[in-house]
Amino acid sequence: MNYSTDEISLMKEASKVADLPNKISNTDSMEALAEMEIPDPNKQMVSARDINHRKFQGGAFWQHIPAFKDVTEEEFLDTKWQNKNTIHKIGKLQEFLIGLTSEEFIKDAVKGMDEAPMNLRLSPYILSRIDWNDPYNDPLRIQFIPLGASREPDHPRLTLDSLSEQDDSPVSGLVHRYFDKALFLPLDVCPVYCRFCTRSYAIGSDTDSVEKVSFKPVPDNWNKAFAYIASRPEIEDIVVSGGDAYMLVPNRIRQIGEMLLNIPHIRRIRFATKGPAVMPMKILTDTEWTEALIDMVDLGRSMGKEVVLHTHFNSANEITNITKDAMDLLFKRGVTVRNQSVMIRGVNDTAEEMIHLVRKLSYMNVQPYYVYQHDMVKGTEEMRTSVAQTQEIERSVRGVTAGFNTPLFVTDAPGGGGKRDVHSYDYYDKVTGISVYRSPSVDEDKLYLYFDPISSLPIEGQKMWEDESVHEDLIQNAIKASGFAHLTMAV
Ligand SMILES: *Cc1c(COP(=O)(O)O)cnc(C)c1O
Ligand code: SF4
Repeated sequence: MNYSTDEISLMKEASKVADLPNKISNTDSMEALAEMEIPDPNKQMVSARDINHRKFQGGAFWQHIPAFKDVTEEEFLDTKWQNKNTIHKIGKLQEFLIGLTSEEFIKDAVKGMDEAPMNLRLSPYILSRIDWNDPYNDPLRIQFIPLGASREPDHPRLTLDSLSEQDDSPVSGLVHRYFDKALFLPLDVCPVYCRFCTRSYAIGSDTDSVEKVSFKPVPDNWNKAFAYIASRPEIEDIVVSGGDAYMLVPNRIRQIGEMLLNIPHIRRIRFATKGPAVMPMKILTDTEWTEALIDMVDLGRSMGKEVVLHTHFNSANEITNITKDAMDLLFKRGVTVRNQSVMIRGVNDTAEEMIHLVRKLSYMNVQPYYVYQHDMVKGTEEMRTSVAQTQEIERSVRGVTAGFNTPLFVTDAPGGGGKRDVHSYDYYDKVTGISVYRSPSVDEDKLYLYFDPISSLPIEGQKMWEDESVHEDLIQNAIKASGFAHLTMAV
């Protein structure tokens, strides 16, 4: 078997020890290997494309944006500079986009913002990762900037708090749905506002179309949540989400971490943040914040408890050299990072994209934990995928890498059923797009239904949903077919 020079250099490249300090020199052993006769392979040599998840965008990539053409690396990496230059208002976005992209797109974005339930927050990092020559198809644009033109009408079964979190809240800002874990929402701000956010019922300030429940970062509220947690011996696991832990000042990270770690039955804490996907430099340059997090991880470890970071990358385009450096720093300091993605049409809804993302995350020592079926959130119909499509991607991803780096594909069952393996429905009809789930650990007497986006259905199914008078029959038929008609449907 002879390899081409390209293939040999690829092998050499691939076997280099990662770029760590104190790296062990492996040149001698590599030279010895070069002398060996290469055993006959049982597999085709991979192409460079198959391992391109190891390439991370470096250089001053932001300088191709006219507004950032003179921005130095030092400035761009500075969290304060990122925050100061973050765009919050559609008017500012309009100004930023003039000359950068088509007028048609700009008009469309203004219209989209008028109708959207979410606020806008776009860091220079995000703005410089969007391909403004083709913003319609860009995976970051799709997540963060709504458009007027691409709106699909909401599914008739959509509700704003589709997860019914407010029903499972003993205290404002705390969701206790599962037996031993709870979700603490200490604040309502994020480093970016995602169009698809499950918590659009609470996150960000009010927009014209939605009046929000407010979780003010008032420690008094927090104390109520802590008191509840302390009173429930079964709770071992707290997700600190929000909002977003990126927006907590270092002292608040410490306050929350120490308070929770001091509750004897708390064994696991996760700080959740989308931050690394939209402003990775904070981990490198907002030293106080990063050290506060690391201190909590170390404090937890010293007590025999686990404190980790959960983040939220959806597309490989969110990841650059800066991200890699940030994740390397956390890894070296002993911080476990796990990732939760949302399956989004046009962002990561092909096997190729999802596998690429999973491999890239794994390469940075970020463990792909979950991929969520898109929640049924108002105004995001064109972002959802069908259960069938998610399952097909799940099938393709399983086996491409280590099992512990293979995400679980889950549906957060509408009506408060919690997370279900996407393929664990008791019934699914690809024509009506109705799937029926049970969730015995949350409520054994209930059935939970998810509805595929109507545009993903075959014409026959689309026609059925056009006729409002048959909707109830479609649902009742699905429930009957599931074999669990004696249970009650969660709304
Ligand atoms: C997702 C979630 C959790 C954490 O669940 P895991 O499956 O352990 O990640 C806890 N509480 C609520 C309400 C959640 O939605
Ligand atoms: S960062 Fe998370 S909580 Fe905030 S808007 Fe995005 S999905 Fe919602």
